[in-house]
Amino acid sequence: MENHSIWETKVKVEKKEKKLIDKTDIVIIGGGITGITTAYFLMNENKKVTLIDKSTIGMGISSKTTAKLNYLQGNIYQKLEKNFNLQTSKLYFDSQKEAINLVNMIITKEKIECDLEKCDSYIFTKEEKGISKIEREKEILEDWNIKVETVNNLPIPFPIKYGIKVKDTYTFHPLKYIVSLKEIVKKKIDIYENVMVSELTPKGKNWIIKTDQGMIESKYVIVTCHYPFFIIPGWIPIKTYIKREYVNASKLNDHKKNFTAINIDSNLHSIRFYKDYIIYGSNQHRLTNKIEYQDHYQQSQIDFKRLFSKEPEYTWMNQDIMSNDHLPFIGKVDKKHPNLLIATAFNAWGMTNGTIAGKILSDLILKKENQYEKLFNPMRINKTGIINSLVGTLYYSKVYFQTTVKKNPVFYNDHVYIIKINGKYYGVYYDNYGKKHIVDHKCPHMKCNLVFNNEEKTWDCPCHGSRFDIDGNVIEGPANYSIHVTFEEN
Ligand SMILES: Cc1cc2nc3c(=O)[nH]c(=O)nc-3n(C[C@H](O)[C@H](O)[C@H](O)COP(=O)(O)OP(=O)(O)OC[C@H]3O[C@@H](n4cnc5c(N)ncnc54)[C@H](O)[C@@H]3O)c2cc1C
Repeated sequence: MENHSIWETKVKVEKKEKKLIDKTDIVIIGGGITGITTAYFLMNENKKVTLIDKSTIGMGISSKTTAKLNYLQGNIYQKLEKNFNLQTSKLYFDSQKEAINLVNMIITKEKIECDLEKCDSYIFTKEEKGISKIEREKEILEDWNIKVETVNNLPIPFPIKYGIKVKDTYTFHPLKYIVSLKEIVKKKIDIYENVMVSELTPKGKNWIIKTDQGMIESKYVIVTCHYPFFIIPGWIPIKTYIKREYVNASKLNDHKKNFTAINIDSNLHSIRFYKDYIIYGSNQHRLTNKIEYQDHYQQSQIDFKRLFSKEPEYTWMNQDIMSNDHLPFIGKVDKKHPNLLIATAFNAWGMTNGTIAGKILSDLILKKENQYEKLFNPMRINKTGIINSLVGTLYYSKVYFQTTVKKNPVFYNDHVYIIKINGKYYGVYYDNYGKKHIVDHKCPHMKCNLVFNNEEKTWDCPCHGSRFDIDGNVIEGPANYSIHVTFEEN
């Protein structure tokens, strides 16, 4: 069984280092689907654009997605109707349709080979109480002239209560798409990989971008690093939370279909196909709520075997940022700094939202009007957002208690434990060869205590999702500094 996503095996990624430039017009931080799409829309605009990534372009969250290119996103439209109104909901729908068209346009224009396929998509419920929600989603979509069919089954044996189907959605290979875009974009802009940005400081109307390989000055900064590494401006940690999902994939015999399906109930089931493979996401949870990660990996594999009578060939975990009011944050992050832009909290729909973000962010910089600017405004305040932020704070407090005060013994064993030296806590891990690896036990982002993820051998922040390898190097932000420590005895 491979412990990485199905996409990562197919695409060769190169590593090359070069000296950082001093000054530029626009710095884009982070080259996932969002950053690379933004770069694509800016590359012919007579501006000096620099894209920086702490690792290799495309190898962040976008390399572990299930890559459904879809506007049928659970029961999002009635959620937005409830939180805002039907007009807001329709505008979000339009943005998702436009994003799908943009991806199609880019693929056709640039002749990108990334296994794009048109397919049917389903949303379904496994519960009686979900039926009325599916019905409402159907009504809304039909009012917007979408052809919707009701169903009582999926095209594969998979028990559902009720569902709907639409026909005009897509799937693709995310890494082939991103790497092809990188090849196009790099002819016009500077790309730096393996460069970590750690701080931004205003200097007059410009920004000084501090990286682990020097400073750059830029007029605009676009932060597309999944989770912005600063707390102010934006207050993203308060306005969002993290959801994790466990994904398994395997070849199905005699399989010749392609469709996507996702349910609207609290226990997630997400299905798509890639060539002969079925890709199944399940066991989703809010990061703060269930921190015994190993159980989830195991349960997701057990579920996969039970449902599809196959051992998983690939198994992996991924996490995305969820906004408390169900809309992403895309645009200017505060009034004082109009040349600092962000795009985050895609609510596990970043293939479309990352794409539309690329268009919105580039339009903002080029001073073009964009009809979605207000919809995704990161400075918006609303009742649902505030209430859910308060609930989120309670969850953060709970996990802080579990990891700091109680020091939950579930995480610690002969190989992993916490030591206190001169009043400071360190995490210790002994690898299979008996070598000791010591890290700072606190995440540099907001000082949360880390939890050892025994399945992937990483130190994970149970609050905001930062992840570190056993030597303390950052795998995933928002942390922007390593937690590496050295002791003489090590
Ligand atoms: C299990 C799962 C399934 C999903 N399935 C779907 C789906 O079917 N359809 C869909 O639309 N969406 C899906 N999503 C959501 C989607 O995958 C994400 O929203 C999207 O990939 C996020 O893209 P991004 O560009 O914002 O982030 P990333 O792809 O993570 O890119 C950010 C980049 O920034 C870099 N970076 C980070 N910090 C720094 C720093 N300090 N300095 C320099 N560089 C930095 C990283 O190395 C990375 O390359 C899914 C999410 C999950 C968790």
